[in-house]
Amino acid sequence: MPTRHDAIIIGAGHNGLVTAAYLARAGRKVLVLERRELVGGCVVTEELWPGFKVSTASYVNSLFRPEIIRDLELKRHGFEMLPRNPSSFTPLPDGRSLLMGPDKEMTRREVSKFSRKDAENLPGFEAMLERVARFLEPMLVETPPNPWSNAPGNLMRLARIAWNFRRLGADAKHAVEILTGAADPILDRWFESEEVKTTISTDAIIGAFATPSMPGTAYVLFHHVMGECDGVRGVWGYVRGGMGALSNAISSAAKERGAEIKVNAPVSRILVKDGRAAGVALAGGEEYHADKVVSCLDAHATFLRLMDRKDLPAEFVESVKHLDYSSASCKINLALSEVPKFTCRPGDGVGPQHRGTIHICPNRTYIEKAFDCAKYGYISENPVIEATIPSSLDNTVAPEGKHVMSMFTQYFPYKLAPDAGTLDENKKRYAERCIDIMTEYAPNFRKAVIQYQVLAPADLESTFGLTGGNIMQGAMTLSSLAFMRPLPGYADYRTPVKGLYLCGAATHPGGGVMGACGYNAAREILKDS
Ligand SMILES: Cc1cc2nc3c(=O)[nH]c(=O)nc-3n(C[C@H](O)[C@H](O)[C@H](O)COP(=O)(O)OP(=O)(O)OC[C@H]3O[C@@H](n4cnc5c(N)ncnc54)[C@H](O)[C@@H]3O)c2cc1C
Repeated sequence: MPTRHDAIIIGAGHNGLVTAAYLARAGRKVLVLERRELVGGCVVTEELWPGFKVSTASYVNSLFRPEIIRDLELKRHGFEMLPRNPSSFTPLPDGRSLLMGPDKEMTRREVSKFSRKDAENLPGFEAMLERVARFLEPMLVETPPNPWSNAPGNLMRLARIAWNFRRLGADAKHAVEILTGAADPILDRWFESEEVKTTISTDAIIGAFATPSMPGTAYVLFHHVMGECDGVRGVWGYVRGGMGALSNAISSAAKERGAEIKVNAPVSRILVKDGRAAGVALAGGEEYHADKVVSCLDAHATFLRLMDRKDLPAEFVESVKHLDYSSASCKINLALSEVPKFTCRPGDGVGPQHRGTIHICPNRTYIEKAFDCAKYGYISENPVIEATIPSSLDNTVAPEGKHVMSMFTQYFPYKLAPDAGTLDENKKRYAERCIDIMTEYAPNFRKAVIQYQVLAPADLESTFGLTGGNIMQGAMTLSSLAFMRPLPGYADYRTPVKGLYLCGAATHPGGGVMGACGYNAAREILKDS
C-alpha cells in the first residue's frame, strides 16, 4: 500500500523546507522528496575538495525573512550569520580602489576620494531606498491580491496597497521608477563618479540577462537592498558553515516538528485523479499519495516536465511555455592556497578588501561590452566578476591558512552560438579568462588557485533543476512580479489543478534566499485544509 501524507513537497529547496516546517508545525503529516543527495537546492554547502566547503550556488544572505528565523528557532538549529564589513571592494585598473559598507564614516571617506558630492548624496539615496522599501517590503510576506477578482478580501488588499502608495507622497515616482525602470538613469541622477555608480550598479544585473541601462534592472538592484543581517538593514553576510547551514537548520526544524525528508528521491510525475492532485510517482516507480502536492520547482519544470498536459488548461500550458528563463550567470567556485594580494591594497593575510564582495568591473561600458558578446551567443571576453571569500570570516569552510572563493560572473549565455565551440571548451576559456582578469589586479592569484569548478547556465539547470539556468526560477521583471508571478491569476500559490501548489522562487516574491515564497505558500495551503 502506498504511504499517505497530508502534503507532499517536491524539492527540498530552502523554500520547500520552509513550507514543510510550517505545515508540520500546524500538525500536518508532511513528506519532502528531494532529487539530489542533499537538501537545500540552491542553498547548499558541498565539500568539493577535502576540507574546502563550498556554497556551490548562492553565496551571501541578507534577504532571509527574520520572522521565519524566529518562528522556526533557526538559531537553536545552528543558523548563524556573519555580517560583512566592509561589504564591497572595487579595485580599479589605475591603482585606485573603493571600499563601501555599513560603516558610514568609512564609506563617506572612501566615496569622497572619487567625489565629495557623491559622498554627500549617498545617505539621501539610501534614505530614499529605505522609504520605498518600507512600502514594498511588507508585501514580501503577503499573498499578492488578484486585480481581476471582486472578492471583498481581495478588494480590501488592493485598496490597502493603493492607500500605502498614496502615503509615499513624492517618493511614489521613485517607487514606480524602481519597479519599472533601468538602474542607470537613477544612478546618473544621484551620483557623478563612474566608479561609485558602477560598484552600485553591479547589483542591478545579478541573475538578469540585462545591463543596467535596460528597463527592469532598477528592481533587481532594489531587490538586493531589501534585507537585513542580524537586525541591521541592508547588510549582507555569510552563513557560518556555508549557505547549506541555513537549509540544514530549516530541515532540522521541520524534522523536529515531524516532517519526513527523503533525499535521492527524484519525482518523475505528479499524479492527478478526477481533476485533483493525488500524489507523486518517483523515477523508480514508487508512489506517494496526498491530497496536497506542493512543488518547489519552477513553473516550467512543474507543469511541463512532471505533468500530463491533458491535466492542465491548454491556455495555461501555452503561457508557461512563454515564461522568461533567459540567463547568463556562471558560478566559478575556487579553492585557494592564499588570499589574493591586490596591488592597490598591498598587505599579507586577510584584510578589509577580502571580507566583502570584490567587484571586478571598472565602469558601466565594461558591462555593456560584456553583455554584447552574450547577446549573440558568445561568452563575454571580459566578464563582470563578483568574488567573495567567505573563509575570510568563517574558519570552518577551508583548511587552516587556505581559502574558498565564489566568483559569480556574467555573461555566459545559456544558448551558445552554433560556431561558438562546445560547452566544455567555453567553460574552460571563460574560467581561465576570469582567473587572468583577477590576476591583473592581484598578481599572486593564478598561482593561488588549487582547484576550480565551473557552473555554466546549462550546469545550473542539470544540477539544481533551474530551467534555462535562471537563478531566480524565472525573470524578475515587472511583467513577472507580484500578482503576475508566475502567471496572472495564479499568484496565490494555487494552480489550475485543485490541491496542487507552488512554493518556490517561481512564485511571489521571487528569487533569492528569502524563504518568503515558502512561508506564504504554507499560509495559503493551511487556509485550504
Ligand atoms: C549560482 C547561484 C547564485 C545565487 N546567489 C544568491 C545569493 O548569493 N543570495 C541570494 O539571496 N540568492 C542567490 N541565488 C538565488 C537563490 O539561491 C534562489 O533563488 C533560491 O535559493 C531558490 O530557492 P527555492 O527553494 O525556491 O528553489 P531551489 O533552490 O531551486 O530548489 C528546488 C529543489 O527542487 C529539487 N528538484 C528539482 N527537480 C526535482 C524532482 N524532479 N524531484 C525532486 N526534487 C527536485 C532541486 O534539486 C532543488 O533542491 C543564487 C542562485 C544561484 C543558482
